[in-house]
Order: sequence, then structure tokens, then C-alpha cells
Amino acid sequence: MEPTNVTKPARGRLFFANPGPTTIPDSILKAVSHHTVDFMDASFMDLYTGCVAGLKRVLQTRQHLFFYTASGHGAWEASLVNLLSPNDLILVIETGNFSESWARMAEGLGLRVKTVAADWRRGADLATLRAALAEDTGHEIKAVCAVHNETSTGMFLPLDQVRAALDATKHPALFLADTISSLGCLDFRMDEWGVDCAVGGSQKGLMLPTGLSFTGVSDKAMAAHAKSTMPKFYMNWTMMLGRPHKSFIGTVPIAFFYGLQESLRLIEEEGLAELFARHARLGEAVRRCVRQWSGNNGPQLYCLDPSRLSNSVTAVQMPDGFSADALRATAMQRFNVSLGGGLSRLNGKVFRIGHMGDLNEPMVLGTLAAVEMALKINGVPHAAGGVAAAMEYLAGEQMQATAKAA
Ligand SMILES: *Cc1c(COP(=O)(O)O)cnc(C)c1O
Repeated sequence: MEPTNVTKPARGRLFFANPGPTTIPDSILKAVSHHTVDFMDASFMDLYTGCVAGLKRVLQTRQHLFFYTASGHGAWEASLVNLLSPNDLILVIETGNFSESWARMAEGLGLRVKTVAADWRRGADLATLRAALAEDTGHEIKAVCAVHNETSTGMFLPLDQVRAALDATKHPALFLADTISSLGCLDFRMDEWGVDCAVGGSQKGLMLPTGLSFTGVSDKAMAAHAKSTMPKFYMNWTMMLGRPHKSFIGTVPIAFFYGLQESLRLIEEEGLAELFARHARLGEAVRRCVRQWSGNNGPQLYCLDPSRLSNSVTAVQMPDGFSADALRATAMQRFNVSLGGGLSRLNGKVFRIGHMGDLNEPMVLGTLAAVEMALKINGVPHAAGGVAAAMEYLAGEQMQATAKAA
């Protein structure tokens, strides 16, 4: 274990490879340092309206949007208290730490929770979801909660298939989706997939500081909201609609919107299709690297289903007897590279490489090189050449793109 009491002055740029919060691009840092303006000022109102329209385009919705001055947990809570009533039953699809946390919150708020259980390394079997919905002929289940991209395991859930299970069983439950670590990284289509409440946050794919979250809300969800009796105040959508910004009971956090305007500008300048392709390419490079390391009984991809590998985060399982946190400490202290740790039951066993947001090939390769060196320094068994495998793949992708353009 690296000594944690010795702090060397960090030289060179911090490579922040946690899967949230993420690196904030310089242009967004500049934008959020905007001087104070009156949030009722006409020029701010214009900017705000533009942010609402732009974020709806990223959510791929034409319906409603509400913001919260809170991290993602605030939007989770808003989704539950605005749509449900005490003692309602909800069905949570187990994916990992974040589905468990959302379910715990629901129980804490006085809801009843049923779970579609899953092996965290393989993900939920959607036939089990379909069976649970088919069995509920009395329609006691009021909402299905799904985490689109499970940040603790590096696995995504195909939400179109969740929609298909609801449709196939003609189940009227609301469909709530957590897009906190997928929005701005993975394709998410709120309206096409019939998502009734899409929960998002600022500090992951949107490349902003932590503290702004939001929910996309469908017309069907607005109708359910009208009947909801959960106690609520600060996040009450009806009260928000009575305010000038149709969000925010209190002061509007204006700095976030200068930042969000720039974030949306960056996203639209790149284009959603290209942005998803970049995340896919960088995610694949990380996975090729980890697969190479897995030789000689080295670290492995935590996610065992190749069809559900996340393009925004990779969780890596350490070989038995080797600490993920010792490896992270080596990367941080020697190379100024910050990696994510294992959450809840994966604590110490898994480390996570975030590849979401403002990221390019050399940033990913730099992180992977630091991890490969840390594996060597810490005497963790692995096959060398992971970074070379990632470079080989990434160079090939560029050569193909050139050939295609010619
Ligand atoms: C980060 C994250 C959250 C929690 O959001 P906070 O902003 O930390 O409150 C919830 N769900 C997922 C999938 C996340 O990645």
C-alpha cells in the first residue's frame, strides 16, 4: 500500500478519470465564473430559455423539464415525491449501487419497493421484469425505476427493452429512468422510449460542476403528478410552474446556466451522433486495454455481458488478494491520476475508469498508461501491453475514418 500520509506536490495536469464528477472544460469554467445578474433580467431569461430548449434536445424530448439546485439525489427525490403517494409500490430493476440507493431512498420516503433482482456482473434479465409486470394483473406497481447506466458496475441497461416489457404486458406503470451517467455520453431517447421521468445531473456527461439536477417529465407523468399525495414543497412541480422560470422555488443558480449554455454549445457543435461515437471509441479502447491486462490472471472487466458494456465508465475487478485502493493510491500519488473506487460491496475489489465528457484519445491513453505502471509498481499480476492494444485500436479507427472520407 502506498503511504497515504506522504503528499508529494503534484506536478503536471491532474488526470481526473473518476466516473463523475468529470473534467470541466476550460470554456465552461470561464462561463460559470460569470458575474451576478438578476435572474429576472431579460438577457438572462433569454439564455435560460435557450438552455431549456437545448437540454430538451439532449434528452430527446418535447415535453416538460424541471431543474433543482441539488446533486442527482435531489432529482431522484423529485421524481418520487412528485409522482407517487405514500405506500405506493414501485418496481426497481437491480443494476448495482445506484439502483440500490434509489430504492433505499424510496423506502425512506414511505414507498414500498419490489426489486427485479440481478447479478451485478451480468445485469437484469428483462424476461424477469416482463414476468413481474405480467403477474401484476391488479396494476399495483405504480412505477418502474431503471438506471440507464450503472456507474458502479460499468454496465448499461437497454431502456428500449424495458419499454417493450411494459408495452408487451400493457402495464400502465410510469417509467422512471436515471440518466445521470448516460446523458451526453450514451444515446438516450426520452420520448421514443416512452420514459415518463428522466433524472439527470450536471457533473457527468454535461461536464459542469456538481449541484444542478433536473427531470424531463412526460405529459402522462404530469397527469400522475396531479394525483400524487407525497409530501413535497421545494421540488413541487405545480408550485414550480407558478414561478417565472417554471422551476426553482428559491433563487435561480445563474452560474450553472452560463455553464450549461456553454456545455450545450459544445455538445451541439460536436453533434450527438459524433459524441456517442467518440464515447463508444474511447470506451472500446479502455476495454481492449483491460482485456490485454487480464492475461496472467490479471485484472478483468467487471461486466461479463459484452452486449451491455458501458461506453462512459469501465469497472475493473482486481485479482484476488490485490487491493484496488492501493492501486488507486499509487496512480494518484505518483502520477496525479485520479481513478474511481469500488462502491458498496465492490469497495476495494474494483476500480473504475471514467471515460465520460470532455475527453480525447491522449487523455484516455495517459490514464491507461498510469494504471499500467501502477500495476507493475504494485506487483499486481497482469499481461503488459494494454496501452499498446488501446493505441492499436484507436489508430485503426482514425485510419478507417480517413479511408471512409476519401
Ligand atoms: C452519480 C450518480 C448518481 C448520484 O448523483 P449525485 O449527483 O451524486 O447525487 C445517481 N445515479 C447514477 C447512475 C450516478 O452515476
